[in-house]
Amino acid sequence: MPFVIAVPNELAGGEKRVAAVPEVVQKLVKAGNEVRIEHDAGMSAYYPDRLYADAGARIAFTRAELLDGAQIVLRVQPPTVAEVDQLAGGTIIIGFMNAARNLEAVSRMRDRKITAFALELVPRTTRAQSMDALSSQATAGGYMAALLGAANCPKFLPMLTTAAGTIRPATVLVLGAGVAGLTAIATAKRLGAVVEAYDVRRAAGEQVRSLGARFIELEIDAEAQGGYARELTAEEKEKERQMVSAAVARADVVITTASIPGRRAPLLITRETIETMRPGAVIVDMAAESGGNCELTRPGETVQEHGVTIMGPLNLPARVPFHASQMLAKNLQAFLGLLIDRDGNLVREFSDEILAASLLVHDGVVRHGPTRDLLNGGGS
Ligand code: NAD
Repeated sequence: MPFVIAVPNELAGGEKRVAAVPEVVQKLVKAGNEVRIEHDAGMSAYYPDRLYADAGARIAFTRAELLDGAQIVLRVQPPTVAEVDQLAGGTIIIGFMNAARNLEAVSRMRDRKITAFALELVPRTTRAQSMDALSSQATAGGYMAALLGAANCPKFLPMLTTAAGTIRPATVLVLGAGVAGLTAIATAKRLGAVVEAYDVRRAAGEQVRSLGARFIELEIDAEAQGGYARELTAEEKEKERQMVSAAVARADVVITTASIPGRRAPLLITRETIETMRPGAVIVDMAAESGGNCELTRPGETVQEHGVTIMGPLNLPARVPFHASQMLAKNLQAFLGLLIDRDGNLVREFSDEILAASLLVHDGVVRHGPTRDLLNGGGS
């Protein structure tokens, strides 16, 4: 049974990504599906309607036309309550859902019997790698963070030997060496900087070193379940702060990516540490959205404090929309491959471990325990 798959224009402020790119559309159409793209949905990512039409999509000029009879909706950002109300009961919607911050939309999806899969709930397992949108978008974000740091630094990053003298390379420090951090390290290395990095997970050290950067060792290993970091004890936090402060003070660019799932981002750079930094140094705080790794970060803003530029960019992947969309669309295509069986039918039960883990709402029930608890706690 072929499906009608709809791709809306993302309306959230600053969002330039799109959930499907022409290359993926072509494959979905070839498999017998009807793909509809809302007019100009790919425009901000530089995929004009013409390319989608060439790939076999139908361009829908209104939301009603887009969604009429659509069984599957592919998105980047969570739907608003108004957007949920546009969907017919039973529609399957797949995208980032950021449930804890969108409880009203989640409860509306529950009440309207929408089936929602949240990309951020896809397990970080080897089997799920091709659908790991957190990783693909963190790659785009980490790359962009390194470029922002370089562009706002008053120094060259590489060593230069010129007739006007020799320039010493800049030092870039990356705090948190997960997916985003490793991409930031690789990017800063390519730009010629001397790169240092730190993570509470000791296993990250090997990856950091393999990129040619120096790993700052601390006698802590805080790797917890699933490869994520656990929260540090008060004593460990103090040790970490002292060591991080010394590294921050000698850096020209600091990129912070440290995060702990479901919690406020750990505070790694205090006001006092900033006072010890070199004039002209730059901090790019990738954790701005979840509270910031730096005490003086203002989410969405760039501020100057004690001669240091502190950037708290939001939605960095949207600043590389062409490739971030391409990667996300491929993640979604792989996800659809689990949802639709070889005969082109929707799988009857969502018992596959990846589908089960990422199923947020189905059949009038919020399936994700922590979100259900938040809703029951009066969150909506
Ligand atoms: P994340 O965005 O949750 O956190 C970013 C980094 O911050 C992590 O490396 C974490 O250890 C670090 N961090 C947390 N607290 C810190 C502190 N106080 N100081 C310094 N660093 C701190 O992480 P992520 O990039 O989503 O990756 C999380 C884990 O999942 C990693 O181990 C990664 O290798 C793993 N992973 C596995 C797969 C897979 O197997 N398919 C895919 C992606 C990621």
